[in-house]
Amino acid sequence: MTPRANGRSAFADLRSWLSYLGDTERLQIIKPGAKLEFEIAGIANRFDGKKATLFPNVGEMGGTVVSGIVSNREWMAEALGIQNHELLDRFQHAVTNPVPWTQVENALCQQEVHRRPDIRALMPIPTHNEHDSGAYITAALLIVRNPKTGRQNVSIHRLQVSGPARLGALLLPRHTLSFQRAAEEAGEDLDAAIVIGASPASLLASQAIAPIDQDELEIAGALIGRSLPVTRCLNSEIRVPADAEIIIEGRFLANKRELEGPFGEFPQYYGEPAERHVIAVDLVSHRKRPWFHTIVGGSLEHLMLGCIPREASIIANLRRNFPEVRDVHLSRGGVCRYHLYIKFKKRFAGESKNVLLGAFAAHYDIKLAVVVDEDVDIHDLSEVEWAIATRFQADRDLIIVSDSQGSKLDPSTNDGVGAKMGIDATKPLDAPEMRFKRIRVPGEADIELESVVDSQTTLADIVS
Ligand code: MN
Repeated sequence: MTPRANGRSAFADLRSWLSYLGDTERLQIIKPGAKLEFEIAGIANRFDGKKATLFPNVGEMGGTVVSGIVSNREWMAEALGIQNHELLDRFQHAVTNPVPWTQVENALCQQEVHRRPDIRALMPIPTHNEHDSGAYITAALLIVRNPKTGRQNVSIHRLQVSGPARLGALLLPRHTLSFQRAAEEAGEDLDAAIVIGASPASLLASQAIAPIDQDELEIAGALIGRSLPVTRCLNSEIRVPADAEIIIEGRFLANKRELEGPFGEFPQYYGEPAERHVIAVDLVSHRKRPWFHTIVGGSLEHLMLGCIPREASIIANLRRNFPEVRDVHLSRGGVCRYHLYIKFKKRFAGESKNVLLGAFAAHYDIKLAVVVDEDVDIHDLSEVEWAIATRFQADRDLIIVSDSQGSKLDPSTNDGVGAKMGIDATKPLDAPEMRFKRIRVPGEADIELESVVDSQTTLADIVS
């Protein structure tokens, strides 16, 4: 068991984490009967970043929906049993030191089994944003196996409910798509498992930027500090987290595409409708009275899950060439993808510009990178702005790279092709010391305000 900085261990399943949030007054129970269409998403958004929400007795089956379970950085660190400042190093350590899972029988996620299911009758699936094409499963781990090696891949995809036993999926050009293509070229369907109600660690691990044959459930094991208990699917060889709430078993249909979208995505815009991949659902299993986790498109929860694994990968990538990179931050305003702030101790003249070039190479989504000195808090954007205001000149410190690969979901690009902007807001190494010396009052930070304030005397006492 990995020792924990604050003496608590990671939370290995959704319910133990939510009950801890409840104990610490960060879980808001909503009145029974909230509507699946828009009302759940609207209420969850109003609590986004402040409290997780639990909606009892929703939908025709009277199910339970939860949302906003990890909508900020501090909560994610707590869910992993670590301190906030350890998050990136701890995550990257898990990516490079995965822990194989352990197979168990009689898993909770298979307490009840439905063959030939109607998913809409079995679970409460919300409709989130105004122009979404309908109900979507948004917080599910999608697990498939490499048809050649049998190794698993775990990722999150938006899943449109297209019929009683049919889902539409958006597959970006990553691991799931390459396995699906390999199966399709052999003329075969690809088995898939959809896991709803996973732990924060498993959700975060699914977003790791890892090699193609790295099973992300092993990264989840490393994050919780022990082997993840998994069980075999009833219809396939796929292993799923045993303590999950709901498992949907199905197949990507070979050579089948159907209309999917629009859907409200992380940049706060709609992903366009197009002919996309189709999953036929064969079986649903679940815990007794399962909880259905939903992530509202564009919410902080949506952004945070992508943010931490990217920051961890970007900082590891940058440090290979620039060991003096101290911290990186993908800001919320940059949808936790596009704007990167880098804290760096410059050693050589011009080196900060090389760091900017390295940042653009570290992830294609980054379109603005700002590098600042060690005395700037990159998690406080007014500090970053101060550094730009006082250490940057546009004719000397600005880099622009045209027509490079960016995010297809950034509507200002030309189908994902756009410009990069790098801002070097570091001070020159050879500047006279006093020129960039930040003002400060000696002893200010050490003053104990309780010991200096006078709570007895009023202004009237003084003027009298
Ligand atoms: Mn993968």
